[in-house]
Amino acid sequence: MVQAFSYINLKGCYCAGAYSVDETCIFAVDQQSCEKVGVRPAAAYSLLLSDEVAMSIACQPPRRPFQARGSRMVRCENCLLTPRTCICDFRHQVSAQARFCLLTHRKEFYKPTNTGRLIEHTIAGTEVLEWSRLEPCERLLRLLADPSLAACIVFPPAPDYAHRMISQPVMEGDPRTPLFIILDGTWRQARRIFRHSDYLSSLPVISLQQASNSRYHLRKKIEDNQLCTAEVAIAMLKQIGDTTSAQALDAYFDVFNEHYRASRLNRPICPDQPAKLYLQALRAGESGCTYDQSTAQPESDMA
Ligand SMILES: [Zn+2]
Repeated sequence: MVQAFSYINLKGCYCAGAYSVDETCIFAVDQQSCEKVGVRPAAAYSLLLSDEVAMSIACQPPRRPFQARGSRMVRCENCLLTPRTCICDFRHQVSAQARFCLLTHRKEFYKPTNTGRLIEHTIAGTEVLEWSRLEPCERLLRLLADPSLAACIVFPPAPDYAHRMISQPVMEGDPRTPLFIILDGTWRQARRIFRHSDYLSSLPVISLQQASNSRYHLRKKIEDNQLCTAEVAIAMLKQIGDTTSAQALDAYFDVFNEHYRASRLNRPICPDQPAKLYLQALRAGESGCTYDQSTAQPESDMA
């Protein structure tokens, strides 16, 4: 049993879709490109395989609108926040001492709460690739074969792959640039990507050395100390001693948090948030600026 709905996609196009009644599965068809997104409950899939049906759904107002929070909002296509809370004016890219490749679960790609895009917008050379269990994308294979990069997966340790664990991404004197592969999804999705991708099974694994509490309150965390994707990258940059890049990403993450909350709670935006002043100074080319997240944004502010 599926229910039809219509919605405006990120590019502002009117789209048709269907979802299973329990709303766990969504299947959508972009009216212009017929691009299919989401997972495919069999019934929704067959319904939407016909363009004619998709068109007729798109032309009729939905009887029961799609309920997902924020699904009908107009959003900035870069940061996915609403126009009022767009953070693109604070975007500043830095060349870090490492590169990142996010292997993103397809359910994460279009989520406004996904913080992977903050890394992409801040750390030069970041690649965001969609995970496929059986077929790695060519871009990923090229990255793994690149002799100038030392690739490793960022993942918690476990006894069954203890032999793959490394404590630092490159040994001293190794001229290669570390390439951190972050499995971008919920903890369950990340575990699935880690366990079910043969092409990743020979790569070394690196873990975060210091446990820290997440500052990310937009999504429910399944386990304590579970960090969101941007926080993993920040921690990894700190771990290799690249504090400058870690600070830039830290600040952008704080701005994102502040603006997302303002959007959700319909609150005014703070114009002189320390993270913003810092990023504006960076964008203006000022040298010697630093950002200390712990003093800039006390934990009590984050409720
Ligand atoms: Zn934006």
